[in-house]
Amino acid sequence: LLQLRGVNKRYGQAHVLRDVDLDVAAGEVVVLLGPSGSGKSTLCRCVNRLETVDSGEIVLDGTPLPAEGRELARLRAQVGMVFQSFNLFGHRTVLDNITLAPVRVRRLAPDRARARALELLDRVGLADKADAHPAQLSGGQQQRVAIARALAMDPRLILFDEPTSALDPEMIGEVLEVMTELAAEGMTMLVVTHEMGFARRAADRVAFMDQGRILETAPPEAFFDRPESDRARDFLARIL
Ligand code: ATP
Ligand code: MG
Repeated sequence: LLQLRGVNKRYGQAHVLRDVDLDVAAGEVVVLLGPSGSGKSTLCRCVNRLETVDSGEIVLDGTPLPAEGRELARLRAQVGMVFQSFNLFGHRTVLDNITLAPVRVRRLAPDRARARALELLDRVGLADKADAHPAQLSGGQQQRVAIARALAMDPRLILFDEPTSALDPEMIGEVLEVMTELAAEGMTMLVVTHEMGFARRAADRVAFMDQGRILETAPPEAFFDRPESDRARDFLARIL
């Protein structure tokens, strides 16, 4: 479903993505691990074109992402994104947050968007929060709204960039639970996280990044039990 082929990205002198190749098959969950500054967020941002790449190709569903235009907008609408910082519209209700993009971008009728939003809120356990404002919700609840908002666009793929890193420990579980359910339902997901339990449980494959390169890609058991590179061994020794 998603392919990165020889992707390079530089910020001035800094070579942040180096010849990155990565495949995510439909229905697959790939967890991206690596030390701070290794390029994980940049990779996610390139996939949904919040950033452009300097060279290489990002192919979504068989179509290389173009630099701009209508085709890019169509492809981007198929990629959901959930950030560390939720990024909800503070002055809008939870329901509005979820229906805005489907109505504006996908031209869904407002009543249909609303019905679907309520369904999704139910799915993430927040059926009673439709009329609340984000500030009235806990971090874990806000992040579940952000997931419902991503789902409302019927994405083919969802990118998660450290979705639980800003949360208090007691709220991490509820967000991981929603993500685990999504994974089990067959959603295609690329997940940057430091939650190793989630990686072991939910990932089909783990990709380990260091200094802009993907050094190894393996099923979680193999990666955690027998990492191949010294860098991955060091990384695991520090976090486990
Ligand atoms: P973390 O685990 O801390 O989130 P990361 O793996 O997500 O790290 P990135 O945020 O992708 O790392 O950053 C990779 C490198 O690119 C870092 O050295 C960072 O300083 C640099 N970088 C990222 N965004 C920019 C930018 N907009 N301008 C210049 N440099 C940037
Ligand atoms: Mg990051």
